[in-house]
Amino acid sequence: MKVLVVNAGSSSIKYQVFDMTTETVLAKGLVDRVGIPGTTLEHKPAGKDEVVIKKDLPDHTEGMRLVLEVLTNEEYGVIKSMDEIGAVGHRVVHGGESFAQSVIIDDHVKKVIRDCFDIAPLHNPPNLMGIEACQALMPNVPHVAVFDTAFHQTMEPANYLYALPYEVYEKYHVRRYGFHGTSHYYVSHRAADMLGKPYEECKIITLHLGNGASMAAIKNGKVVDTTMGFTPLEGLVMGTRSGDIDPAIVFYLMEKLGMDTKEANNYFNKKCGMLGLSGVSNDLRDILEAAKSGNYRAQIALEVYYNRVKGYIGNYIAKLNGCDCLVFTAGVGENGWDIRENICKDLDYLGIKIDPEKNKVRGKEVDVAAEDSKVRIFVIPTNEELVIARDTYRLAQGK
Ligand code: ADP
Repeated sequence: MKVLVVNAGSSSIKYQVFDMTTETVLAKGLVDRVGIPGTTLEHKPAGKDEVVIKKDLPDHTEGMRLVLEVLTNEEYGVIKSMDEIGAVGHRVVHGGESFAQSVIIDDHVKKVIRDCFDIAPLHNPPNLMGIEACQALMPNVPHVAVFDTAFHQTMEPANYLYALPYEVYEKYHVRRYGFHGTSHYYVSHRAADMLGKPYEECKIITLHLGNGASMAAIKNGKVVDTTMGFTPLEGLVMGTRSGDIDPAIVFYLMEKLGMDTKEANNYFNKKCGMLGLSGVSNDLRDILEAAKSGNYRAQIALEVYYNRVKGYIGNYIAKLNGCDCLVFTAGVGENGWDIRENICKDLDYLGIKIDPEKNKVRGKEVDVAAEDSKVRIFVIPTNEELVIARDTYRLAQGK
């Protein structure tokens, strides 16, 4: 069976086509600037050159229509007709407390995704647009929703509740949800394989360090804790998000900078983090460059970044009462060897010792810990699309 994986954002659609008999990617691509002048589709068929098509498209349905045209194109397509697609898997950011697993999409599932608009206003509306566009064009195949929050639903109340009046949890569903769940799930399973231990017996700390970043503590196959919270704003220092701060800073700066709630939300999500602190960029490569040439703000931003991650490693080792391995993944975690080295520096008391030579790798599945490190340190490239394709394939077969 061939499975189409779709990740629809507010103005973009990312897609991949998998052949599930071999789990190989036949093609992947991105439609950018959907609904904005200058729409571009970049399509990369496996083993062939990339194709770029520029054509203004008003909405996600037209965006998906173009994707389907490209996939069936005689020259650079990868299937003869749409009938070859047996199922479609959709990335959905927020499933609230309703979904601890992936599900076949029906009217009830769509209602829950819609009910979560309030708590995921930037992500769930475009995710649903993507689903509806695909359902309109492919009405006869199963569509599956794979939620970023699902894996974290294994957390216990002791870790997902905030110290707020209990009624706001009951009435407004204010609690820690956690995100990047599909990535934490994938790399923690790979880590158990690399440890050679059953997943249900492992203590794993996963570090998904991309432009958005989060960590998770996983014990016996369940998430104990994760750094992102009610929204993706909490936790680590990110490209443009502040991560943890004293919540009183929000009221203080709203007054000082004259921001309303919408502006404040934008400020803490888009203007802070590494960008705000360094004044250089949200991209850690630029900040590392600037730090090397003596830029103080870039240097201090990196120190704050490392310290926050180190703090959570300590926190999570305490909560797990031990740790078999750390797993670095996503753009920064997979490629930034100097960042991994700095995070792991001076953690030998906790049994964490990196081998600086082995660590000089990018984007490979490898153990970079020193021989005598009690805790293994893995670099594992994430593969969220493969998890979505596998779940979709399984559910489409009625398993
Ligand atoms: P997201 O999916 O959250 O947008 P990615 O996981 O693709 O992000 O990660 C993108 C980030 O990876 C970039 O912002 C950049 O800072 C970082 N990155 C990529 N390569 C390197 C590198 N060699 N060193 C440090 N950071 C890197």
